[in-house]
Amino acid sequence: MDEFRQQHKSIGLVPTMGALHEGHLSLIKAARAQTDIVVCSIFVNPTQFNDPDDLARYPRTVEADLAKLREAACDAVFLPLVDEMYTKGETWHIELGPLENIFEGALRPGHYQGVTQVVKKLFDIVKPDIAFFGQKDFQQVLILRKMVEMLALPVTLVMCPIKREPDGLAMSSRNVYLSPEDHQLALALVKSLEQAKRSFPEKNVGDIKQEAIDFLRKEGVEPDYFEICDAHTLTPIPTAAGPDIIALVAAKVGKIRLIDNMFLRQESGY
Ligand code: AMP
Repeated sequence: MDEFRQQHKSIGLVPTMGALHEGHLSLIKAARAQTDIVVCSIFVNPTQFNDPDDLARYPRTVEADLAKLREAACDAVFLPLVDEMYTKGETWHIELGPLENIFEGALRPGHYQGVTQVVKKLFDIVKPDIAFFGQKDFQQVLILRKMVEMLALPVTLVMCPIKREPDGLAMSSRNVYLSPEDHQLALALVKSLEQAKRSFPEKNVGDIKQEAIDFLRKEGVEPDYFEICDAHTLTPIPTAAGPDIIALVAAKVGKIRLIDNMFLRQESGY
């Protein structure tokens, strides 16, 4: 990497946990368009899993991933072992403020400490000029922006749009575990977001939220949350005021936990 840097080539990093799909590849494509050298990391990061079973069954498809990255003209792949990323007994804590303990952070305690820990290491090792992340994990993007700001890290974060299956389901490595019936059920997430988007801002925010929750339950999907928030702070909003407003949903379909989100209004740059 130092060699490229000496040649004044910009470096783009796409951090992933592997089991690559079109969503990941859209990040590689964005990196190709914006940087000279594209690095993809594949690392199933143990510190961001609070459920050992979830970690154990996380899909690992390295050979297929490498073939996809070759096809996508990714320049380098970083595939570290757990022992190479972590020393024994290592601890990490960074004060992330309220964003850490809401939504995904509330349901997966410690998750964002693990995410920031590994992403900081990846930044230190690869030293990218730009790092690319998906809107699919919107709260993660906000958390990482906060870390970059607080630690004044010399990297720009770019958020890329959510890639969806033709039927609307947000692509996710975990989708491979959905049975065809569960895949159909999972469509309730994107449908609830689309319904909210159609109703916004004419209907009252509380009513839009309740209708989404009722819809999910009617479809047979129990939501962990469906919220309409200020897209900068993730504070739930009581009314439709504000330039950037996002709806966030999480639900378990069968044994698989899925998340999705959609901007209801997006006026300032993201
Ligand atoms: P993961 O391998 O799940 O940790 O994801 C690696 C990166 O890909 C993260 O920045 C995700 O937000 C992004 N990503 C995952 N799914 C999608 C998708 N459907 N569309 C766009 N980006 C995605």
